[in-house]
Amino acid sequence: MHELYTVLAEYYDAIYRKRAERVKKEIDFVEEIFKKDAKRSVKKVLDLACGTGIPTLELAERGYEIVGLDLHEEMLEVAKEKAQQRGLNIRFLQEDALEINFENEFDAVTMFFSSIMYFDEENLQGLFNGVANALRPGGVFVADFPCWFYGGSDGPIVWDEQNGNERLVITDWREVEPAFQKLHFKRLVQIIKPNGDTKAFFVNDELNIYTPREMRLLAREHFSEVRIYGNLKRELAPNDRSYWLVAIR
Ligand code: SAH
Repeated sequence: MHELYTVLAEYYDAIYRKRAERVKKEIDFVEEIFKKDAKRSVKKVLDLACGTGIPTLELAERGYEIVGLDLHEEMLEVAKEKAQQRGLNIRFLQEDALEINFENEFDAVTMFFSSIMYFDEENLQGLFNGVANALRPGGVFVADFPCWFYGGSDGPIVWDEQNGNERLVITDWREVEPAFQKLHFKRLVQIIKPNGDTKAFFVNDELNIYTPREMRLLAREHFSEVRIYGNLKRELAPNDRSYWLVAIR
């Protein structure tokens, strides 16, 4: 569990290079949600499960006052170093998102890159509760999650990336348990140095699959308004395969 966020933290941005390139578009969309869905002006944002800060730093660069929170110190170290290099003043906290204890502090709370899938039904209730308390009235919670039907179990996908002079060869596959709505995300990361020395790491994370309807029903218990949007547009289309939960306190 969690090798991706500990021993592999320094490789995270190389592994997700393509996603980092897309982040500006994602944050454009999130800013549109801040402006059109939140019922207050958004200035102060809490980014839960901020990881190496790919979205966190982008929000900070756009002038939001931002707190980044993550369970893993190794991820936060990478985020802190990047923030320093870019001259950004961000407060980072090492904490479990389930343990947060903020009261009326933020205009928006975000949780990006399917991180919400780490929480099972019971934990999700606790998460929503903590998020609703952290928000000021009219504030908005934004979290993305993928479609449950997006392939089910599948065989290995292999791709490669470069990290400095090291080559990464990454092999991903998933095993889905439909009855339990669990997705076992498996990944083998091989790191090859120019002289051929190779290290390998195995990632095996258990994620929770939610349908848009389930997410809506669970969130409704904690927020006054709940919307599910499709990918990067403020509406849901029949064949959308990734979703954005938008919940207003
Ligand atoms: N949001 C970031 C990182 C996503 S990776 C991005 O968009 O790039 C998922 C992150 O969730 C990891 O950094 C991991 O440490 C964090 N995480 C997992 N469980 C968590 C929990 N219970 N509380 C806080 N962070 C958690």
